[in-house]
Amino acid sequence: MILLPCAWCGSRDASEFQHVGEVIPRPNPAAASPAQWRGYLYLRANPCGWTTETWYHRMGCRRYIKVERHTETNEVRAVHPTEVSASRSSQDQPPEASGAPAREARQRR
Ligand SMILES: [Zn+2]
Repeated sequence: MILLPCAWCGSRDASEFQHVGEVIPRPNPAAASPAQWRGYLYLRANPCGWTTETWYHRMGCRRYIKVERHTETNEVRAVHPTEVSASRSSQDQPPEASGAPAREARQRR
């Protein structure tokens, strides 16, 4: 079992989440070539090691988080909330952003 520490809900089983994919910087729309767009849309590094991914807590708070995860061991070393959209209020900040102690990332097999 893999535990993912949600920035808002705490550690939860990975089955509550949907894996969205690797975090890839978006190319500049005004200057990107078709090859750059194709790479952004379809090509993934899929490393054996540390990667930053986006996960969606579909069975919990229904928010997105960025997770730094080792793809071989499933160890999680950091979790960050994604940027808050304009429709969310400042009260929607995760506990870590409000000064509460950060939750420890845990992982079990
Ligand atoms: Zn959550």
